[in-house]
Amino acid sequence: MKFSRTSQRRVILSELRKLKSHPTADELYTIVREKLPQISLGTVYRNLDQMAEAGIVQRLELCGRQKRFDGNIDRHYHMRCPDCGAVKDVENDRMSHVESILSDVLEDLDAEGFWIEFTGQCKDCNKPRVEII
Ligand SMILES: [Zn+2]
Ligand SMILES: [Zn+2]
Repeated sequence: MKFSRTSQRRVILSELRKLKSHPTADELYTIVREKLPQISLGTVYRNLDQMAEAGIVQRLELCGRQKRFDGNIDRHYHMRCPDCGAVKDVENDRMSHVESILSDVLEDLDAEGFWIEFTGQCKDCNKPRVEII
């Protein structure tokens, strides 16, 4: 079965939106390939970039490592594990307070934007180590 470009893009987008993991293009490729075995990594990259340019998905500007993508384009913040690179959504009501302060600062500085990223070990990396003797 041959898939059109549009349906390829639709599958990529719907798989990305299902994920909470903010996958890299490579990770998403592995998942999308189960539905579209013919798809190439290059196609996944190209579609993600185009959708990011169009504002349909979010490209996360995380420091270092591979770029990650988010199907959720509503404004929200992320916490990145410095050990494994896992990215999680931050759910904290106080961020709206931070935003209102920052918008004043933004105005003072005549700046165009800001980027907030939290870092902290994820649950997996924070597990107590089991000593095997
Ligand atoms: Zn981790
Ligand atoms: Zn997110």
